[in-house]
Amino acid sequence: MRLLPFAISALALTLPAAAQAQSVPATPAGKEALEILKEAVDVPTVAGRGNVPKLAEKLTARLVAGGFDPKDISFTPVEGTDTGYFMARYPGKDRAAKPVVINVHLDVVEARPEDWERDPFTALVENGYVFGRGSVDNKGDLSMIMATVLKLKRAGWVPSRDLVLGISGDEETLMRSTAKLAETLKNAELVLNGDGGGGELSSDFKPIVYSVQAAEKSYADFKLTVTDEGGHSSRPGSFNAIGAMSRALAKVDAYRFPAQLSPLTKAYWEGTAKAAPADVAAAMRAFAADPTDKAASDLLSSRSEYVGLVRTTCVPTMVNGGHAANALPQSVTANINCRIFPGTSRAQAGEILKQVIGDPRVTLEMMDDGSIESPESPLRKDVMDAVSKAVHERVPGLTIVPQMSAGASDSMYFRALGIPSYGVSAIFMRADDEFSHGLNERLPLDTIDPGVKQWETLLRTLLK
Ligand SMILES: [Zn+2]
Repeated sequence: MRLLPFAISALALTLPAAAQAQSVPATPAGKEALEILKEAVDVPTVAGRGNVPKLAEKLTARLVAGGFDPKDISFTPVEGTDTGYFMARYPGKDRAAKPVVINVHLDVVEARPEDWERDPFTALVENGYVFGRGSVDNKGDLSMIMATVLKLKRAGWVPSRDLVLGISGDEETLMRSTAKLAETLKNAELVLNGDGGGGELSSDFKPIVYSVQAAEKSYADFKLTVTDEGGHSSRPGSFNAIGAMSRALAKVDAYRFPAQLSPLTKAYWEGTAKAAPADVAAAMRAFAADPTDKAASDLLSSRSEYVGLVRTTCVPTMVNGGHAANALPQSVTANINCRIFPGTSRAQAGEILKQVIGDPRVTLEMMDDGSIESPESPLRKDVMDAVSKAVHERVPGLTIVPQMSAGASDSMYFRALGIPSYGVSAIFMRADDEFSHGLNERLPLDTIDPGVKQWETLLRTLLK
């Protein structure tokens, strides 16, 4: 998953007429990252095609050629899937210390060549971009991380403790490899995730903010059901299943969970206010000072890029019922989709919905979709200092804010095991260029050289 944190991302499906001319990478490590990226995009690691091990083999070959011990590299298939997880250990000075993990994922979202302007599985460098499925999500950071560790290894650098590339193979689908990977690395000190956070550029390519993803909301679907004996529509009784479901859905639609503030979102609002328009900035500051300030939370909730950060949200997303135009409905079902603030369990959210609906004839059932609850990661000083150093070397003085995302990334599995995890992508791009999961996904070439440098400084600082 990758979504610019607070871009008003329209996900436009056409390219802007004039993309800014950008140069190809100039440094040896940047050139190598581009080479790795092209090689990775050319392997269609879509679920069901069995190609993840092939990409793992290519990465293994590069790491071994770069001086990694083959014994420190492994690909572990996950039973019942066509994928698995990849690990490469970079031994540190203190072998007994808990390792730092760098996490990304090898798989990509499906792309249909007939829908694309170019073949999604042939990397193409054009107009200052690398086009191809996965060029951003998540092979962009994968390639920069690979180039960085290869550069550090060749330079003879030794981290203070072991550094482990812990790379999943089905982040975009079932995350079964992620679950195994996190379990295998459960003694990790912390995780740096290349599939979250990152730099946002304005439409005229000016850096606006850098985000560190340190939490995500949990996901839950609840199925509501109303059943009735039905009958002929000419003989209605006092109860109608569609009527009962309609009242239940109207209550859910109208209900607002309490506004919430956590250490992370407080820092987010305070940091983001610096770059926001005056009225929004004032609401952010007021909300950060007092989360019961309704005027402030209402204003922030009216904006799609902020609504998810104010509270738990639950919305009706599907409804299905009745079986004939002239019959009383026997069964009506509906789906309520929730994005739950860390600290509230999915079961608790379900209980609240039950109370809101307040009708025993409407039953509620939590659907198991494999997602799990994860706590917010504390904003560790060592991590935030190292990230600041690396980001400020690239863009002096840039605002850095922690971020809570709405979707599920690999980090949730690590956080659920108590391992703090930080989304620190080194990609800087415009919302206009964000096509992850969509058509014509593309990485700006000019993010590669500084991106490799950012990863290098981050690792050298955190693991010195
Ligand atoms: Zn991703």
